[in-house]
Amino acid sequence: MIKLLIQRGSHEIGGSCVELAFNDSRIILDVGMPLVNPDGSQFNMREYEGLSGEELFDKQVLPQVNGLYAWQKPSVNAVLISHAHMDHHGFLKHVHPDIPVYMSEGTHKLLEISALFSGGAAPPDKCKYFTWPSSFEIGAFIITPHLVDHSSFSSFAFEIEAEGKRVFYSGDFRTHGYIGNAIKALYENVQPEVDALIMEGTMLGRSDESAQTEKDLSEESAEICKQTEKAVFIYQAGQNISRAVSFFKAALQSHRLFIPDVYTAYVLDVLCHCPGGDKLPYPGKPGFDNVRVWYPNRITRMLDRKGQMDIAHRYTSQKMTKEEMAADLSKVMLFVRPGMERDLKKLEELSGSLSGSTLIYSLWEGYKSQDNTKRFLDTIESMGIKVETLHSSGHADIPSLQQMVNTLKPRKLIPIHTFNPEEYDRLFNCPVITESQLVI
Ligand SMILES: [Zn+2]
Repeated sequence: MIKLLIQRGSHEIGGSCVELAFNDSRIILDVGMPLVNPDGSQFNMREYEGLSGEELFDKQVLPQVNGLYAWQKPSVNAVLISHAHMDHHGFLKHVHPDIPVYMSEGTHKLLEISALFSGGAAPPDKCKYFTWPSSFEIGAFIITPHLVDHSSFSSFAFEIEAEGKRVFYSGDFRTHGYIGNAIKALYENVQPEVDALIMEGTMLGRSDESAQTEKDLSEESAEICKQTEKAVFIYQAGQNISRAVSFFKAALQSHRLFIPDVYTAYVLDVLCHCPGGDKLPYPGKPGFDNVRVWYPNRITRMLDRKGQMDIAHRYTSQKMTKEEMAADLSKVMLFVRPGMERDLKKLEELSGSLSGSTLIYSLWEGYKSQDNTKRFLDTIESMGIKVETLHSSGHADIPSLQQMVNTLKPRKLIPIHTFNPEEYDRLFNCPVITESQLVI
């Protein structure tokens, strides 16, 4: 009998945390930071600055798992992290240092990069990498990770077995990205009729339509590049490397130089050397001559302050200066984001005008109302740069979710990572359990 407890995430997007127990063995899937407060307002960790882990636990900010945290006697066998998004790993730093934490090498590298560039917590010392689709044991559990496509590199679903009972945790996934064959392999490797399927439902209540594929998005952006007389600017999440690949392909098609900032370049470089990343472009990679790099003031100063200039220096021979860009804007595809306004002003000054350029906004529409994004987009428009929006979700659309249910044929379906768990009954043809605690 496996005891299954959704510690957080059964009625919200973000803060995912699932506990599985079998006799004395206990494992935790994800220890995410919430995106919303219990009243539905936006969660802001700054409001809790200065509080200890114990105080956060008492305030129920941390999931209520006993034996998991640094100040408790450890009684959890292990933590598994599905991917490198904050709402899945954000509270890792409070986990007891003696508890092993399993993740993919790519996820580990992304956590290290975030710690370096954004000042977040470094990943725990006791990290263990898993490879796929090899299984490994933790206490009474046998875990098999399955690679999935998502907007974070090297994301995984987990199949978990104990004494013949099987639980499948989808993590965050989609089927419209570049590694669509991952889902095919998953369906070939996982025997149907799992006892419980814990499946994300981010898109429920957002859109009933099929998502645009990453490939189509790339082609659409290539058209924009061809029709833009001057520079093309890209505003996307630096760690969404599938999206960076989409724009890289568009740059190739439209004969532009692909110019990530040094942070995005470093992400691509590090991940290219991880399992599954060998096709990624980065500056200096043999055969990738149209890939350059630029050095925004703020990031370069930060690297200098942290004694990390070796990161900046590794791409010196691929450096593109603002003067070089200004000399022929029609060859430029440049990665930008808020905080780089001064660099853009300088480029405007050097080139005379940026009017006739396009910025491709490639993030969730909702961020446009946030202060720094709004300010940034206002600055962009004040320079005469046209703003186009091209985005596709990192999450499975409804047909893909139905395909997962129809293929894995679960005896019980448990919603997670959704604001609309009550929709599951209507959409999926199997018994749905919306209570956060059950036994299988
Ligand atoms: Zn995610």
